[in-house]
Amino acid sequence: VIPDKKVKEWKYTTCNYCSTGCAIEIGLSEENRIVTTRGHAGADVNRGKLCIKGLLEHELFESPGRGTKPLLRDKYFEEFKPVSWDQAFDKTAEKIKEIQGKYGRDSFAIVSTGQLLTEEFYTLGKLARGCIGTNNYDGNTTLCMASAVSGYKRSFGADGPPGCYEDFEHTHCLMAFGSNLPEQHPIIYWRLKEALEKRKFPLIVVDPRVTMLAQFADIHLPITPGTDCVLINSMLHVIINEGLQDKDYIAANTQGFDEIEKLLATGEYAPEKAQHVCGISEDKIRTVARLYAKAPAAMSIWTMGINQSTHGSDGVVNINNLNLITGNIGKPGGTSLSITGQCNAMGTREWSSCSGLPGYRLLENENHRQEIADYWGIDPEFFPKARGLAQTDIFPAIETGEIKGLWIVATNPMTSMPDTPRIRKALEKLEWLVVQDVYEDVEMNQYSHCYFPASVWAEKEGCHTNTERRVNLIRNVLPSYADSKPDFWIFNQMAKRFENGQKITFPETPEGAFEEMKHLSKGDNAYGNDRTLNISGMTYDKIEAARGIQWPYREEDDGLKGDPRLYTDGKFQTPTQRANLIPIYFYDNNEKPDEQYPFWLNSGRVVEHFHTRTRTGKIGNCNKFSPTPYMEMNPDAAAELGIEHQTYVRLASRRGDSVVMVQLTHRVPRNMVFIPFHFHDCVNRLTLGLLDPYSRQPAFKQCACRIEKVDQE
Ligand code: SF4
Repeated sequence: VIPDKKVKEWKYTTCNYCSTGCAIEIGLSEENRIVTTRGHAGADVNRGKLCIKGLLEHELFESPGRGTKPLLRDKYFEEFKPVSWDQAFDKTAEKIKEIQGKYGRDSFAIVSTGQLLTEEFYTLGKLARGCIGTNNYDGNTTLCMASAVSGYKRSFGADGPPGCYEDFEHTHCLMAFGSNLPEQHPIIYWRLKEALEKRKFPLIVVDPRVTMLAQFADIHLPITPGTDCVLINSMLHVIINEGLQDKDYIAANTQGFDEIEKLLATGEYAPEKAQHVCGISEDKIRTVARLYAKAPAAMSIWTMGINQSTHGSDGVVNINNLNLITGNIGKPGGTSLSITGQCNAMGTREWSSCSGLPGYRLLENENHRQEIADYWGIDPEFFPKARGLAQTDIFPAIETGEIKGLWIVATNPMTSMPDTPRIRKALEKLEWLVVQDVYEDVEMNQYSHCYFPASVWAEKEGCHTNTERRVNLIRNVLPSYADSKPDFWIFNQMAKRFENGQKITFPETPEGAFEEMKHLSKGDNAYGNDRTLNISGMTYDKIEAARGIQWPYREEDDGLKGDPRLYTDGKFQTPTQRANLIPIYFYDNNEKPDEQYPFWLNSGRVVEHFHTRTRTGKIGNCNKFSPTPYMEMNPDAAAELGIEHQTYVRLASRRGDSVVMVQLTHRVPRNMVFIPFHFHDCVNRLTLGLLDPYSRQPAFKQCACRIEKVDQE
């Protein structure tokens, strides 16, 4: 950290990596350069703290590889030519129209991200749905949070995590499913640790690895991959058999309890049976079920260990079932809190129109289509009547020739998608690929025909929503680097080329787009319930003054605090206002270890890196502490195969292989290996493209592999 005397001025903004939503102060020098960052002491979320990524975020601005000019070429791998913005926009618009004219509107697809600002998501959605008119538009949030979205909708009638970080301070039992907070969300972990130090309560961690969070757990449940639904059903079996359910809460606020009773009456999930499927002993299942149900308030958190599975959506529904049946929704310390991945994964869920229309509206609902069409000034018939392809279905559609053109915004599927050799082949088939990113050297640019250089965080203005529904502000602190431009401006310029004879107009500023979002957040949802996603009382100045405001925050609300919790009155967003209890039947479709491929392959994060390292890979200290991929392997399994610490092995699956260095550790069980997913051409060469049927999210954490020794030379 640079001493304060070199800093002329501190400016408030929000971190642009994970979904914790830490408030940052940016230190500007006399020359108006960003020289350092520090945590904002007055912010509720992080109270002055930052993790390594936030502390080094200022190094992004002048890091190598930043895009300086729009680029064009006729064929991928030819040399790019720098062009003006008008040339890049005109050519791309011409190609989109040509492709759509030849093959139909949906033959051009758009894949975006969870890392733009909310106003940018809203504007891109308006452009995609209202002007370009493709139904094949999705975000990379399908790779991380889609199962949480789908699970919340099935249980509560709408998306939106019902709890908040403050719940750590009130809970009497916390159960973490597939969530390694110290590495993924270090500041949320710090909040949890503070709460645990003040007031001891049981921490139960469900994870096949002994993660950093599992090391601190009172009870660690090293579950068999992909069987979380069995564990939860078994806990419910104990809770209901012993009469520990919250009968009053169930009767007043839910529907479907008899269906759950019927499922459990089969005896399939009795602990003595379930233990053989989920790998957790009967005794432990009974212990955690009783602890959870008897706690005055208990909460569940989860991240990718639940979401990235063929049972992801069912897993989320079953966590919600557990909390509804024990009366743990909408009360301090009692909640079902998905810990989101990217800084603005929530913003894209709320406002991007990826899987629907803005403000959690549905394409399937005629009134919703009409409402948005009227507000935007377009014909409602222009909208499709159901959702198009998810990101994970867009690439197979490129393979089959159904999709011919693609616009990729701030995401890197060549590293992040499962089975990347297939992605590479698909990209070769595109007639037009436009890549919009801060960095010109992003891997996707190997295959692109056009590159739009985007401004980085703090060179633009707008909002993020964090994991606890807190809308935070990103202030424009610096001018954009070279000829890069804010994503908001890029979308607006493209919109001018797709007027289609309709009356649709686009606000000139992010604050103008925010006003449109505020208007659309008012009123009732499809079933006549007061919409929870209501931001109508917010302004940029209020958000800055409060260091973030949680929604709902309505026009009539006083003060600077939104609602910390949803469903406190027991009224859900369903037609009956009751939460749905949905029985979850377990079906085993995982690719499991066998004779040919005897190990589970698991993947996840390390604290120093974010996503595919397009940004953290350029930060000196992030790379110094985590320079290369590695594979965690159990020492006993390694001894059997004659493999030593820090030697190289070839890891192979039915999709591909990769050479990687071994790190021996008891963090993984004997039949599992683990590789961080951040590195290009590594673990996702092997992973499996099997999808959750509801969310279309891939099973990144469960496939089979084998280990081969290689010549160390
Ligand atoms: Fe940024 Fe997340 Fe680290 Fe906070 S915890 S500083 S939001 S990366």
